[in-house]
Parts: sequence; C-alpha cells; structure tokens
Amino acid sequence: MSGIWHPFTQHALAPAPLPVAKGEGAWLILNDGRRILDGISSWWVTTHGHNHPRLMAAIREQTGRLDQVIFAGFTHQPAEDLATELLRIAPPGLSHVFYSDSGSTSVEVALKMALGFWRNRGETRTRIVALEHAYHGDTIGTMAAGARGVFNAAYEPLLFEVARLPFPADPAATLAALEREAPGAAALIVEPLLLGAGGMLMYGPETLRAMKAICERHGTLFIADEVLTGFGRTGTLFACEQAGVAPDLLCLAKGLTGGALPLAATLATPAIFEAHYSTDRRKTFFHSSSYTANPIACAAARENLLLWREEPVRERIAALGKMQEERLAPFRADPRFANVRRLGTVAALDLKVSDPGYLADAGPRLMAHFLAAGVLLRPLGNTIYVLPPYCITAAELDMIYAAIADCVQA
Ligand SMILES: *Cc1c(COP(=O)(O)O)cnc(C)c1O
Repeated sequence: MSGIWHPFTQHALAPAPLPVAKGEGAWLILNDGRRILDGISSWWVTTHGHNHPRLMAAIREQTGRLDQVIFAGFTHQPAEDLATELLRIAPPGLSHVFYSDSGSTSVEVALKMALGFWRNRGETRTRIVALEHAYHGDTIGTMAAGARGVFNAAYEPLLFEVARLPFPADPAATLAALEREAPGAAALIVEPLLLGAGGMLMYGPETLRAMKAICERHGTLFIADEVLTGFGRTGTLFACEQAGVAPDLLCLAKGLTGGALPLAATLATPAIFEAHYSTDRRKTFFHSSSYTANPIACAAARENLLLWREEPVRERIAALGKMQEERLAPFRADPRFANVRRLGTVAALDLKVSDPGYLADAGPRLMAHFLAAGVLLRPLGNTIYVLPPYCITAAELDMIYAAIADCVQA
C-alpha cells in the first residue's frame, strides 16, 4: 500500500484504488487496459468528456506562455477574457468575478462577502440561512452551512449555527420558515433546484423563485451555490435560469474548466463590490489563495466557454436528458425502486432496502457491483444516480442502466 490517504475513503474497508492511465470521452482506461464507463463525470466535474481535444490544446498553448503569477497587483489575459465572458453569460445583475480554486472556497468567499457587505455598511446581520440536506463543501465554514450528520460529527464544536429551512418537499413549509428567518439574516444560501450530495434531491423553479422574492423583501442576500448545477447539469447553463432568478452571489467551480483543472469563481453584484470599495483599507475583501486565477486553469475555462458558444452543447444536453428519461421509464413502475427522478442531465432513483443495517453498507456494495460491470457509479447510500459527461452515447447509457437493473440480484 502506498502512503496516499484518499478522500472520503475508509482505508480499513475499501478495496485498493484502481490505477487510471488514460481518459477518453466517457471512458476511463486502467493501467491494465480495462475500460470503465464514467457514469458520474469523475465526481461531477467532467462536462464534455475526458481529455477533450480543444481543452487539452488550450492548456498546452497556455503552458508555453505563463504558468502562474501573483493575482494581487497583477492580471493576465486568460483571467480577463474569462471574467468578461462569465459576466456575459451569467444571470443578470452580477458585475464582479472573484477567482479561487475549489467549490468549497467559492462558497467560503461568498459567505465572507455576505458578512463583509453587512459589516462594511455598519449593520449587524450575521445569521446564515440554509436548507436541510444542503451540501456546500468540506471546509469548516461550508460544513457549517451544510447538513449535519456522520460526515461532520467530529467537527461539530467548530461549526457555527445556521437557521435551517426544511427541504421543499412541501414548499409552503419551506417558504413559511424562510419568512420567519429572513428578516435580519445576512444571507440565504441554496443549491438551486438540485441538492447533490444530500441525495440528488430535486425541487421546482417556482419554489426557488419564491425564496428569492422573500429574500428581496427582507434585504437578505441570496447566494446560489451552482458548483454542481452550473454548466448544463440541470438542462440549462445555470439552474437559476429556469426560475428567472438573479442571485446576489453565484458560486461556480466543478464544470467551469470542463472538469480539466481546478478553478472556481464567485460572482457578485455591484452593491456587494461597492460595500468593500473604500479608501478605508479595513473595508478590503481580505481573501486570497495562492493559485487565485491560475493562468493555465483560466485558459482551460476560457476555452470551455468558447466551446459552449461554438459547439451544440445545449442540444447535446437536451438529447441526453431525453435519453435519460427513456431509460428511467421502466424503473418508475419497478417496485424495487422508489423516487425515480430526473432534472436535465441528472437521473436518480432509490433502491428500496428493507434492512437498515444493510443500508449503511449499500453504497460500497452497489459500487463494487457496478465496477464489476465496467461502470463507475458511486451511490449515495441507497440512492443510485447517473450524472454522465455530455458526450455519452445511447449505447453507453444502456450499459449503465443494464447494470442498475441487475443490481438488485447482486
Ligand atoms: C462539490 C460541491 C461543493 C464543493 O466543491 P469542491 O470543489 O469539492 O470543494 C460545493 N457545493 C456544491 C453544491 C457541490 O456539489
């Protein structure tokens, strides 16, 4: 065994990690030549497919120019071009782009900007409102905003209190709770339409729109964590579009570079920028990470946005949604499954498990079954989801759903 400590891995129970030599479209190719179909976009990041030729070429091109430079007091073309393009395609009302390097940091930045906004305006609004089952990252601040459970029990003493809204299974209850919590709160943070790590839970655009309206009425900032939902996952470029919602802060990461390199961005409104704009240095937004706006990552993201403009990505996403729906249909009538659901390119269903003791074990056992069938799926407990790169073909999707149909016997 090597000395590597893998993420979200219980090394006392997990099989040895599979060595991957190559990526190709929707496929991962192992050192021994075995091919694994990537049904979860390598943890939700790969949008167009692995090793997309245009993204790889843009990265190669940038490596001949500039690898890295301090971003305080300096700038560079890839970051400038990317910011211009992001502001062009983002929901209306956003005017500034702050770069960081992961989804978690993009959320930390949004939370800090929200708190800074109120402090710099001389108002004491510090409470954060968040949804039940939310996931916003694994740093201390983002864990505090996310759902509490076995994953963060050890760190509980360090997590700050947030006001928690019930998941909008019953939207009226969620909205009533928000009416109570929004007055005097600094910000509401939500994953628009799709709660990913919380179990691929979906809710409607009318609820998202109503939550935004309540925030507006109480002057509470609205943070859209589109780290997962951004870049086409829910069927539109951003999930907020489906609700016609313009957030005060927008967090982007996973699909920003097409999944090729780590990069994140937090987009903010003029009001939030201006609250930090002052000759008083104490009002500075005090945040940076070493690799803020790394030029190679920005070049990859810039090319990704060009690709969105020049290739029929939206058509591909619509076709993928339709293919997913067709394959889900037989499972809707299958008594072994419940909550069969889809939003855009993402499909999910819950395997009914009678023995709750078995439940804790269901995820890893299912994953082993899928890998034996040549498919990478990583269920969340008994929730199986299919979140593939957009290049996946009908025949490849068939392979995934055949493995799902087989999983009950296994
Ligand atoms: C994955 C995820 C994050 C955290 O992103 P990292 O890049 O893993 O830090 C935050 N919010 C949501 C909604 C996510 O799905």
